[in-house]
Amino acid sequence: MALRSVDEVLHQLLADAPIWGAESRDLARALGAVLAVDVFAQIDVPPAANSAMDGYALRAADVNEGQTLPITQRIPAGALGSALQAGSAARIFTGAFVPPGADAVVAQEDCELLGGELKVNIVPRTGQHIRPQGQDIAKGQLILGKGHRLQAADLGLLASLGFAAVDVGRQLRVAVMSTGDELREPGEVLAAGQIYNSNRPMLAALLSELGVEVIDIGIVVDTPAATRAALQQASASADVVISSGGVSVGEEDHVKAQVEAMGSLDLWKLAIKPGKPLAYGRVAGVPFFGLPGNPVSGFVTFCILVRPYLLKMLGAEQVLPAQWPAKALFDWPRAGSRQEYLRARVVPSTDGMTVDIHPQQSSGVLSSVSWCNALAIIPVGKTVAPGDRVDVIFLRDLN
Ligand code: AMP
Ligand code: MG
Repeated sequence: MALRSVDEVLHQLLADAPIWGAESRDLARALGAVLAVDVFAQIDVPPAANSAMDGYALRAADVNEGQTLPITQRIPAGALGSALQAGSAARIFTGAFVPPGADAVVAQEDCELLGGELKVNIVPRTGQHIRPQGQDIAKGQLILGKGHRLQAADLGLLASLGFAAVDVGRQLRVAVMSTGDELREPGEVLAAGQIYNSNRPMLAALLSELGVEVIDIGIVVDTPAATRAALQQASASADVVISSGGVSVGEEDHVKAQVEAMGSLDLWKLAIKPGKPLAYGRVAGVPFFGLPGNPVSGFVTFCILVRPYLLKMLGAEQVLPAQWPAKALFDWPRAGSRQEYLRARVVPSTDGMTVDIHPQQSSGVLSSVSWCNALAIIPVGKTVAPGDRVDVIFLRDLN
């Protein structure tokens, strides 16, 4: 069977991702959620002209050399002043609304007090140190578009407009099951032949980063009955099921047969490295992904194929990871027949963005994934020499 290209399978998956509904979510729980509607400002921010300084509000034209102004009122932030009489000044603090009649604020360090009256030492400009009404946002303005994934600053912005909740893609519940007789959980003692389950916390964390609720099915032993019971439990409690391992076609791989018995399954051989087998189908009507058991392959397959699918379900506009060009510091002399995602580190330099790769690109080396901050993409049939341009996908911050 010919290998299927990453792009082709990605397109097929995105076309098949079910449309998911929307719900109203409190801001406190909305980090990472996807906006289901365009959001427009209902008010001006700031709602009125206010002082950018601790100082005095006055009319710029009233400031004449040698003359002092009586201070007729005091306006802390949160208090409302009264209209400013011509030829007077108001003591004002940062954030307080500028009283009607005033057209400038002078900083307190540019003034002195003479016999209780204000002497201004620097002639002010009209409008000085005043933040105009609507300077940040004007009422009616489009603030954030449908399909945008909410980041920390967006939550602050929405709060500044008075939104306590927003309409976002409905909370997605994703079940994670780890197949393999050899697996034990961290904290348990390993017997001969056993290894720790690294996929479970890794997949759970990758899902949590998407704002998804993780339903943990735990370890599933390699029998048809256990596999079937786990698939039943997962599909009954979640909107998407992700399993790791057991999708090869060896005697100990039961996922394919059990999913087929409960629904439908495609098992693809993908032109992706690390990775290769990927199962996709439905279990009792619920979308199902069978990832390779190998943790490095599982990580890459999740990032490249499953993550975009989940983002599509959530209604995100941007579902594919952004790719950036970087200058290779490494040599990759052997062209491959599968698209490779090398575990790489991007380092900014005076020369622009440069990228180097982990010395061990074997799919058994999970420490390379922990080390990397990016994946460098090597297309089928391509080689790389130092100085060549390669595309990279960022996985996290550059530190
Ligand atoms: P499988 O896809 O089940 O044939 O597994 C492929 C390889 O990945 C084997 O070496 C497994 O022991 C390993 N593996 C499978 N699942 C996990 C897991 N959850 N954590 C760590 N290694 C795993
Ligand atoms: Mg297995």
